[in-house]
Amino acid sequence: MSVEFATCTYQYRRGPVVLDRLSFAFPSGRTVLLGPNGAGKTTLLGLAASALKPRSGIVSFAGLNPAARSQLRAYRRQVGWMPQHITAVPGMTCQEQVAYAGWLKGMPRREAWDAALEALGRVGLAKKAGQPASALSGGQLRRVGVAQTLVHSSRLVLMDEPTAGLDPAQRGTFRRVVEQLAETADVIVSTHQTEDLSEVYDHVVVLSEGTIRFSGRVKEFYAQAPKDTASGRIAEGAYASVLGGGETW
Ligand code: ADP
Repeated sequence: MSVEFATCTYQYRRGPVVLDRLSFAFPSGRTVLLGPNGAGKTTLLGLAASALKPRSGIVSFAGLNPAARSQLRAYRRQVGWMPQHITAVPGMTCQEQVAYAGWLKGMPRREAWDAALEALGRVGLAKKAGQPASALSGGQLRRVGVAQTLVHSSRLVLMDEPTAGLDPAQRGTFRRVVEQLAETADVIVSTHQTEDLSEVYDHVVVLSEGTIRFSGRVKEFYAQAPKDTASGRIAEGAYASVLGGGETW
C-alpha cells in the first residue's frame, strides 16, 4: 500500500467540508486520481503532501505520520509534491531551482546541487540546466516541477493535474517521465480528463464529492463502461458509469 488516509476530515476555513471521515489506502504503483473539478483531488493530494493538515484522522506513508512533529521532516523527504502551477524562480537557472527544492527538503547544498542535475536528466532537461528557468516553455517548466519532486529521492510522487495545458507531444513525454519515475517511487497523478488514462498506469481511483467512487486496476475500470460503448470511448463511458451518469466535468 501507498499513502493511507484513516477517517480523515478536511474543511477549508469558511469553506465546505471536502472530505468527511475518508478512509482509503492508495495502491502501490502508478495511479490516476480521476474526478470532476471540485471533487477534492487537490485537497486530497495536499493532505498526502502534508501541505494541509486534516481536521481529524491520520494520514500516513511508509509508517510515518506527518502530524507527529518528530516524523514530519522524514515524511516530507519521502513525499514529493508537484502543485498545479509551477513558477520559475526569478533569476535562478533550472539547476538552481531544482537544487533549491532539494535544499528546502533538508538536503545538504552540495548534495542537492548534484542531485538536481541528475533529476533534470531524468526528465530530459539536462541540457537546460544552466539556463534561466524563466526562459522555458510551459511544458519544460512542468518537467522542472517533476525534477523538483525527484531531487530528494521521493518514494511517493504526487502530481496535481500535471498534464493540463500540455499538447499531445508533451503529454507523450510526460507519460514516459511517469513510467521512469515509477521504477523508484509510487506515483499518483490527478486529472479530470479521461484522455489522460493510458497503459502507463496500473490503477484508477475515482473521486467525486470527496468520496471514492471506484478503485481498481485500469482494466477493471474499463469494464465499468456500458456494453454498447464505442471502442474509442471506453474510458469516458466507464467514468460516466462510475459517476452514475452525471456530469463529468
Ligand atoms: P479538485 O482538485 O478536485 O478540483 P479541490 O480539492 O480543489 O477539488 O476542491 C474541493 C472543494 O473545496 C471545492 O468545492 C472547492 O471549491 C473547495 N476549495 C478548494 N480550495 C479552497 C479554499 N482555499 N478555500 C475554500 N474552499 C476551497
